[in-house]
Amino acid sequence: MKLRKLEIALQGLSGFSEPQASLEQYQTPAPLAARLLYHAFMKGDIKGKSVCDLGSGTGVLAIGASLLGAGMVTGVELDDKAVKVAQENAGLLDADVRFIVADVKDHTLPDRLGQYDTVIMNPPFGAQKSHADRPFIDLALSIAPVTYGIFNAGSRQFIKTYTQSRAGINEVVGGSFPIRRTFSFHTRDVQEIEVEILRLIRTIP
Ligand code: SAH
Repeated sequence: MKLRKLEIALQGLSGFSEPQASLEQYQTPAPLAARLLYHAFMKGDIKGKSVCDLGSGTGVLAIGASLLGAGMVTGVELDDKAVKVAQENAGLLDADVRFIVADVKDHTLPDRLGQYDTVIMNPPFGAQKSHADRPFIDLALSIAPVTYGIFNAGSRQFIKTYTQSRAGINEVVGGSFPIRRTFSFHTRDVQEIEVEILRLIRTIP
C-alpha cells in the first residue's frame, strides 16, 4: 500500500467519542500517523512483524500497521470507550488487530503481552500529568527491541537521558500535529504542535 493510500484510509476513521483531557486523548492526524508507519515499514519493522501500539486510542496506528502487512498487531488502551471505537474502525478497514483494555503502568503487562518485534505509540506528552510518557517508554523497552514514538519536539534530550542505559535514539523524523479545539482550555481552533518521531533501539537484551 502506498503512503498516500494509507493516509486516505486512516483519514476516514472515527475519532474519540468523548475525548478525555486527563488521558491526553488526541487522535494522531492521518498524515502524521502514515508518516510514522511508512517510515517504520521502509525500515523493515512492520511487514510480517509483530507490532504493539501502546495507548492505541481509536486505533489509527495499530490499524495502519495491519494495513501495511504486520503479522500480528495488538493495541493496548486504558479507555474501554476508545477501544470500542478502535474495534469499529478496524472492522471498517478489515484490519486484523487485537485490542486489550489495560493500563500501561500495570506491572503484570510485560508478562501478559510477551515480546514483540516493534512498538509504535503516540503517548501522552505529559501536558496534563507530567512524565505521563515515562510508563509508555518503560513498557515499550521491556517488550520490544525497536520502538517508534511521537514526542513533543525538543524532548529528544530528555528521552536520551531517561533511556540512557537501556536504549539509543537511532533516528529522528520531524513532523507537526495540528490539534483541533477539543477541550475548554483550548483557545484556538487549530494549534500546530511541532513533534518528532523517534526510533529507539533497545541496547539491553
Ligand atoms: N494512539 C492513538 C491515541 C493517542 S492519544 C492515536 O495515535 O491516535 C494517547 C492515548 O493513550 C489515549 O487514547 C489515552 O486514553 C491512552 N492512555 C493514556 N494513559 C494511558 C495508560 N496509563 N494506559 C493505557 N493507555 C493510556
